Amino acid sequence: RMVAMPTGSIELIDTKDGPQVPFRALCEVFEQVEATTKRLEITALVRDFLFLVMKAGPEHLKHTVMVCINKVAPDHEGIELGIGESALIKAIATATGRQAARIKQEHQELGDLGAVAQRSKTSQRTMFKPKPLSVSRVLATFKEIAQTSGSSAIQKKVGLISDLLAACSSSSEAKYLIRALEGRLRIGLAESTVQAALAQAALLYERGSDDGLEPEDLQKATDNLKQVLSQFPVYENVIAAIYEHGISGVASHCMLTPTLPVKPMLAKIEKAADDILRRFEGRPFTCEYKYDGERSQIHYVRDEAGGERCVVFSRNAENNTAKYPDIAASVREFARPDVTSFILDCEAVAWDQASGRIRSFQVLSSRRKKVDDQSEITVGVCCFSFDLLFLNGEPLIKLPLRRRRELLREHFVPVANKFQYATSRDLTEVEDIQEFLEQSIVDNCEGLMIKTLDGEMSSYEPSKRSLNWLKLKKDYVDGLGDSLDLVVIGAYYGKGKRVGAYGAYLLACYDPDREEYQAICKIGTGFSDSDLEAHKAKLDQSRIEQPKPYYAVSDKTKPDIWFEPAQVWEVKAADLSLSPIYQAAYGEAMSALAHMPVPIDATKGVSLRFPRFIRVRDDKTAEMATSSAQVAEMYENQKTVQ
Ligand code: ATP
Repeated sequence: RMVAMPTGSIELIDTKDGPQVPFRALCEVFEQVEATTKRLEITALVRDFLFLVMKAGPEHLKHTVMVCINKVAPDHEGIELGIGESALIKAIATATGRQAARIKQEHQELGDLGAVAQRSKTSQRTMFKPKPLSVSRVLATFKEIAQTSGSSAIQKKVGLISDLLAACSSSSEAKYLIRALEGRLRIGLAESTVQAALAQAALLYERGSDDGLEPEDLQKATDNLKQVLSQFPVYENVIAAIYEHGISGVASHCMLTPTLPVKPMLAKIEKAADDILRRFEGRPFTCEYKYDGERSQIHYVRDEAGGERCVVFSRNAENNTAKYPDIAASVREFARPDVTSFILDCEAVAWDQASGRIRSFQVLSSRRKKVDDQSEITVGVCCFSFDLLFLNGEPLIKLPLRRRRELLREHFVPVANKFQYATSRDLTEVEDIQEFLEQSIVDNCEGLMIKTLDGEMSSYEPSKRSLNWLKLKKDYVDGLGDSLDLVVIGAYYGKGKRVGAYGAYLLACYDPDREEYQAICKIGTGFSDSDLEAHKAKLDQSRIEQPKPYYAVSDKTKPDIWFEPAQVWEVKAADLSLSPIYQAAYGEAMSALAHMPVPIDATKGVSLRFPRFIRVRDDKTAEMATSSAQVAEMYENQKTVQ
């Protein structure tokens, strides 16, 4: 049997807020999850627990899911946990009566503050048995901690954390509390696994039995929920809708909503213009310029009283409105008067008004993250719009691209220096595509995006890297590979001319399933002297004494200095090769690529040959770096090309 109906129930604890799910019970599940690496087993463990919580009621489920994904609010609200080491050490000291110096030392030995908290708790003798901690209290306190600011914020946070620690009745509660507060549970429970577990629990709950349940049903429920969350990223409402309408009905109640970010659709790589016709098999397509700026999803709503709200989201669902107040201010210029609500997909590009030309991505990167007054803007931007996802109360993503484009052009007008439609041509001949590609480069773009125009395959697929959107960059055509976005995790001291600066850096890709940064290459090429100085100054701010436990780095490539996973660099390389000393995409990471004939290698990872620094990617967080699965795919693709 695929799934057996979970049995038993959760013994709720009595609290002043009524019966609650004990945090201890959730931590027992976390322990079991941590003890295995098998994805199906992890999903089943979490599914069974969520099913039992689901029976206890919606509030319990909402809180438990948030603690499982280790978030206090939806991403776009920008409220993050992630408490510094020193505050956590202080809190552990306060709660357990141990000396901070001892705790620091133990941290050096164990490399995991969670384990230190666990050990401290085990050895602690207490006079009173604390009242059990509930999942809801943990979440509420996390929220309070994340939102505490002001002069004595650190002190208040330390107080709140130590109260939580003091209330732990088991040492594993202390371990997971501390890890959660660091921002990472590190049990191999990716958010996508929690989503699968939630979908499956909801399906079982709805059916009431496991009779006749097929693997396809589980998969369908999972896909369904993932799609819903990529358009409506608020667990609280989605869970409420699951109770009300069932897992199959949730999609029609949690639809695209202006002011909630949609996970963007992404493109696959196409290496040659000749292959495009073959790929599209006679289906009409359009070629658009691929602008080199920052993805900007513009949301707008006007209510009946005339109140307006405009939000600009980044590619990662961050609220970028404070960075682009000029875009928000020009909405009424480019939207026709009949438009009352919309979601536009655009690329914001640095723009030179005098010459009427696009400026480079580097220029855009120098724009400040927050502008208080529009007069402070030093780098002007123009938005090139390529899709319309929502208009006047209606989601459009299921419509063919051709129709969405018509609506875009009917309801929005170009405004000089501010808003334009993406330059596009509906071409059919390879020579014309090639020529348009050349022209895009002359016009300071990266190449072309080629998109299916008609039929179901041209719908907008939130969060998917789809074959219905292909990217054709000049570099691929010239035989250079695509670039990778990698995280800087270490540095090596320089020699000769580079004494005083770092001579090379250690880069890593990210494996979201294992929540691990895997070393991929050492890089020392592509930097100017001023680059080297600037990088050193910036990176030194995130220097750490020892590697994070979630860094996969072999002894042979150990750097002299370690960094927090903070900076992402775009890097190009001659090619990718197998390596016994780098870990990228090793062994089991391949489960993500089940379609591959052979796993890459159980012991070797993939490494980059002759990597070269291109630029800093300030618009990406470390977790947005190229994933292990993408590295594996690039490696495999190159094998088929050769
Ligand atoms: P890259 O490093 O190329 O930005 P990526 O993984 O961020 O890679 P891709 O799927 O490769 O994203 O390319 C899509 C990105 O290209 C979009 O996120 C968007 O920012 C940008 N873009 C520029 N012009 C267009 C366009 N006409 N249509 C869609 N996306 C465009």
